[in-house]
Amino acid sequence: MHNITAEQWTFEKARFIFDLPFVELIYRAQSKHREHFDPTVVQVSTLLNIKTGGCPENCAYCPQSAHYNTGLKREPLMPLEEVIAAATNAKTLGSTRFCMGAAWRGPADRDLEPVCDMIRAVKAQGLETCATLGLLTDSQALKLKDAGLDFYNHNIDTSEEYYPEIISTRTFAERLETLEHVRNAGIKTCCGGILGMGESNDDRIRMLLVLVSLPSPPESVPINKLIRIPGTPLANAAEIDPLDFVRTIALTRILMPKSYIRLSAGRENMGEELQSLCFLAGANSIFFGEKLLTAPNPQPQEDVRLFNRLGMRIQEAS
Ligand code: SF4
Repeated sequence: MHNITAEQWTFEKARFIFDLPFVELIYRAQSKHREHFDPTVVQVSTLLNIKTGGCPENCAYCPQSAHYNTGLKREPLMPLEEVIAAATNAKTLGSTRFCMGAAWRGPADRDLEPVCDMIRAVKAQGLETCATLGLLTDSQALKLKDAGLDFYNHNIDTSEEYYPEIISTRTFAERLETLEHVRNAGIKTCCGGILGMGESNDDRIRMLLVLVSLPSPPESVPINKLIRIPGTPLANAAEIDPLDFVRTIALTRILMPKSYIRLSAGRENMGEELQSLCFLAGANSIFFGEKLLTAPNPQPQEDVRLFNRLGMRIQEAS
């Protein structure tokens, strides 16, 4: 089992904070947040699926897995021009980072060159680049770095203990290995998980403790709320208690005060009040765009309207 005892964090201490009276927890998270960030600023990324479906992995939440019949149409690697057009559009909407996702176990070496071309082209538009392509070898990570990749997303999804309930085709250790290759290549890591897959609050806390005990915590921590997709094994998973969701965001902020915490999948059915509570608890990044890989996402205009009502603004490119 991975050693979750980071320098100063133990499970007991993290659980104590998670269980604080709600207002106390939010106050602590918000105070931490203000030490490192302007609390009125939200970083905005856009995610594009560059290769859809037919993935050999069996992640129980994923409509792109070839193991489940979700009616999703498979699509090969997207032509470069389409990626460039999507990046231009994302920039116009105010995104500062463009993330490209491919439903692979990991990229075959022959697939890497076209992805590197995409990275170079997106970077040339003045956007930060991010990719999520599955497991990476160390040499593949170096190639992506050479092409100008800023971030690599590779989620651990859940606690190591609950992980076998969600995926059996790749191990937790393999995930950590890919993160190591990414870090060693000098690429920033984007790594988080999904809440609402039947895991307990203890699992949520353990997942965060794995992240904080990495040699350097991820610069970006996406926290997803499960989208229950018909045809996947988690289609009928019980809905997560929204306040537990907010508590998890607050603990993430306290454990990783300098990381961007991104509200990722599942925002479409969160409601504005829940999203606002998440911002109050320290979330400071979202995905912009009508689609998140293959799942629906709020319309950018709705997000801008919410930011305006909250007196928040989108972070400008650095
Ligand atoms: S590896 Fe990615 S694309 Fe493949 S099944 Fe898992 S989440 Fe879906």
